Amino acid sequence: MAEVVAHDVLILGTGLAGLRAAVEIARAANGSINIGIVSKLQLMRSHSVCAEGGSAAVMREEEGDSFDLHAWDTNKGADFLADQDVVDRFVRAAPEEIRQLDRWGLPWSRRDDGRVKQRPFGGHGYPRATMAADKTGFMEMQTLYDTLVKFGNFTRYDEVFVTSIVSDGGRFLGLTAIDLPGGRFLAMRAKALLIATGGIGTLYGFTTYSQTVTGDGQAMAYRAGLALEDPEFLQFHPTGLVPSGILMTEGCRGEGGYLKNKDGERFMERYAREAMELAPRDIVSRSMMTEILEGRGFAGPNGLDYVHLDLTHLGANRIHKALPLVREVCMKYRGIDPVLEPIPVRPVAHYSMGGVETDIDGKTEMAGVWAGGEVMCSSLHGANRLGCNSTSECLVWGTITGREVFKYLQSGPATPDLPESRVDAEEKRIFSDLLGKVGKENPYAIRQELRTVMDRCFGVFRTAKAMGEGLEKIRALKERFGNISIQDKGRVYNTNLKNVLELENLLDLAEVMGVAALAREESRGAHSHRDFPKRDDDNWLKHTLVRHSADGPRLDYKPVRITRWKPVERKY
Ligand SMILES: Cc1cc2nc3c(=O)[nH]c(=O)nc-3n(C[C@H](O)[C@H](O)[C@H](O)COP(=O)(O)OP(=O)(O)OC[C@H]3O[C@@H](n4cnc5c(N)ncnc54)[C@H](O)[C@@H]3O)c2cc1C
Repeated sequence: MAEVVAHDVLILGTGLAGLRAAVEIARAANGSINIGIVSKLQLMRSHSVCAEGGSAAVMREEEGDSFDLHAWDTNKGADFLADQDVVDRFVRAAPEEIRQLDRWGLPWSRRDDGRVKQRPFGGHGYPRATMAADKTGFMEMQTLYDTLVKFGNFTRYDEVFVTSIVSDGGRFLGLTAIDLPGGRFLAMRAKALLIATGGIGTLYGFTTYSQTVTGDGQAMAYRAGLALEDPEFLQFHPTGLVPSGILMTEGCRGEGGYLKNKDGERFMERYAREAMELAPRDIVSRSMMTEILEGRGFAGPNGLDYVHLDLTHLGANRIHKALPLVREVCMKYRGIDPVLEPIPVRPVAHYSMGGVETDIDGKTEMAGVWAGGEVMCSSLHGANRLGCNSTSECLVWGTITGREVFKYLQSGPATPDLPESRVDAEEKRIFSDLLGKVGKENPYAIRQELRTVMDRCFGVFRTAKAMGEGLEKIRALKERFGNISIQDKGRVYNTNLKNVLELENLLDLAEVMGVAALAREESRGAHSHRDFPKRDDDNWLKHTLVRHSADGPRLDYKPVRITRWKPVERKY
């Protein structure tokens, strides 16, 4: 029998987006709103603490930056699939988020004149990556949590794994969840929900993401009837450390690092003569893979061939000051000191441009539900996100959704009933049906195979043949998932069970991505289709929408909102 808890609002996810929204609601409500914040991890272990390079914002109009320039960079970086009104709102709101964090005590890196420091980042026409050395996400998270504690009136649900979003078709009713340490099943009632569950990076084997980032929020929203938008656009960051995939922040190139092939050439000259290493990520990743595929890379372990990221000319002082984490990671995980030696890197799965479809306020189609941060797709990033625009997005839409939720709660909605039968059915599905399975398949083998398929068939370069085979394989893995067994049959801290629930989510999202990617017969941003190598604005300047149906993912499309800039050829 489930234990029932009730709040005015539930914030599902305590990364940057969830915490920023919680702070905004708490400060507007002045104690009058009862907030529940839920994380399957310890709060400060949310993936956002890993963000390194910075947060993009226009902070120096008097020195040459402008909202128009940031908006143009973002739209061009997005290969013109971003909604331009969303981009405009974003660039105008981002600077205040940086200033607000400054007031709340965030130790931003500073210039000699005492002003907040900013460094160059890929695809940005002005140095606007606001940074706390290379520990930006950690500092942002810590500052937000410290601030939230001051406002109070929230309850933490750490290590509580949400398993479903319950609705009556059009309206949010509540969440079901497992309290991992105690094994209790929870029915969580609320008037409003913010989904802030982050990305889907561990769909891939070679990824920068924490192993905890498994797309749960996207998958639950999809199964609850919400549309997923643009799921085929998965960003490959150019510089994943070989062989672990740990991120070498774009800040390395922002500080002046070079990419070199095995002949010692700065090969970006061939692909982006002006921007060189600081072209947008889709372009740099394709360039690196071209070098590797044409035999100008280094042979790496398990097929992970690579090129060099060379920082040696920057000198020890600059590396110590601006990239201390990068140096520490290289030394600990690879035995390389980047002050003295180049770093082996290759493109790595990094960010999901797609997500739960929302309007410009982060509101979903389900009454009472908003989404914020990486899980949302308000169409800010289009086909390719610019570095540093994501943490800023989390902050901007954390604030926007927080305000929208506050307004909604002021209008006096009642807490809807969460029918016991729905909660009981979910508890039975998990603790009887799933846990009771005694099939032959090992879920960890399925997860491993899924990652291999995604790496092979939905990578930097894609073909119809590979994607078709990949989709078939994903569907076969879904079939095999029906025949798994879970070794641990207990309720208390059952990590086997949690891993299986995450795998179920990843399998659904892999199929969604596969269907959407196979259908998009053009190359745009991060979706680089060898059979259709050109962008095709006549037929494909539109967003993909994917909905759940009994027969599998159902595709639909909607127009891109172009308000100011007509798409042009991208040159860097
Ligand atoms: C290594 C790395 C470095 C990066 N550096 C930068 C950078 O410098 N600048 C930049 O702009 N972007 C950067 N990014 C991207 C950026 O960090 C992320 O997009 C952003 O932090 C996501 O924040 P979020 O709040 O949406 O989600 P997250 O921080 O991922 O938080 C998700 C939350 O949801 C919870 N959750 C998920 N599923 C469940 C469930 N089933 N039940 C309960 N809780 C659940 C988790 O516990 C967690 O609390 C980087 C990404 C990576 C991988």
